Amino acid sequence: MNTSNNQTISVGVLGFGGLGQAAARVLAPKGEMRWVAAADKKGYVYQPEGLNGDRCISAYQQQGSIGHVEPGGVLSSSSIEELIEVAHTVDGYFLALPNLPNTFMAEVAQKFIATGWRGVLVDAIKRTSAVEQLLAMKDELQAAGITYMSGCGATPGLLTAAAAIAAQSYAEIHSVKITFGVGIANWEAYRATIREDIGHLPEYDVEKAKAMTDAEVEALLDRTNGLLELENMEHADDVMLELAGICPRDRVTVGGIVDTRNAKKPLSTNVRVTGRTFEGKISTHTFTLGDETSMAANVCGPAFGYLKAGVSLHRRGIYGLFTAAEVMPQFVK
Ligand code: NAD
Repeated sequence: MNTSNNQTISVGVLGFGGLGQAAARVLAPKGEMRWVAAADKKGYVYQPEGLNGDRCISAYQQQGSIGHVEPGGVLSSSSIEELIEVAHTVDGYFLALPNLPNTFMAEVAQKFIATGWRGVLVDAIKRTSAVEQLLAMKDELQAAGITYMSGCGATPGLLTAAAAIAAQSYAEIHSVKITFGVGIANWEAYRATIREDIGHLPEYDVEKAKAMTDAEVEALLDRTNGLLELENMEHADDVMLELAGICPRDRVTVGGIVDTRNAKKPLSTNVRVTGRTFEGKISTHTFTLGDETSMAANVCGPAFGYLKAGVSLHRRGIYGLFTAAEVMPQFVK
């Protein structure tokens, strides 16, 4: 980890699709974080003095990879491994990568461990089974000097953390119900998100969704008028709240509607936490996100808030695996 400058945190972003590009825009005005490194499937770029978001986005969209950015861009089919080796000043990475297959994020974490890199990693992965793979690596991450913050997007992430706070009013938690509404104008801006969501539909799974061609995804969306209606999803909010001691995982449910043809949210994203107070009253706290906030804002904001929190843990010598329900995010100025 770069300890030469305690003021500015040097940040890398792995994956430069919908969320990766939004991350670059979120970071641009920040004084406490400097975006210096990024990788996509075909290349990477590293500039210790800071990257220009517009130039990177235009290289990715027009030439197909940020490996085309000058100076510092390199085309490579093993972009993550090569970037980790060269980008010595990076304090922490946001992993805005598809988790396809469902073991991919854990494999990326293994790559970091294998190179001897020390620092902070933040993901926004969604499935319970994916977070469980990382939980199983807790001791390895700790021994490697990596502070890994898992499930730090919107859900899991912001809404899970809100549930952990809301729970404090109660003596017993009866249910945590997360309902999300996502509106995106065009599914191709968030291919991995949409494919992973399709994997939650009744007749699908991760492998089936991963194997679908773009034409097959489009055909499915044509049949549903662009809508994906999801219920009882396998979402890591459950294991995260269980681990944080809030309630057993079977009391946590997640579902929602994704509209892939309209930037307007089909419903207001919210989390409802029902419990019993010490006086015996049953009540529900509801935390609702503003409809104007996009999925990208609600994922990337928390991700960097948790990255900052992770850096402060790392600087105190605290390594291992933490979730969004366990640690407060810090606001990045
Ligand atoms: P995307 O498909 O738009 O982009 C993925 C990017 O990863 C691309 O730039 C691609 O080139 C890159 N990539 C793929 N394989 C790679 C490899 N082997 N090495 C380097 N780069 C590689 O993805 P997206 O829609 O932005 O979603 C990213 C992730 O965020 C998904 O897993 C999604 O489920 C998750 N997500 C989480 C939340 C949440 O609230 N927790 C919300 C939305 C999305």
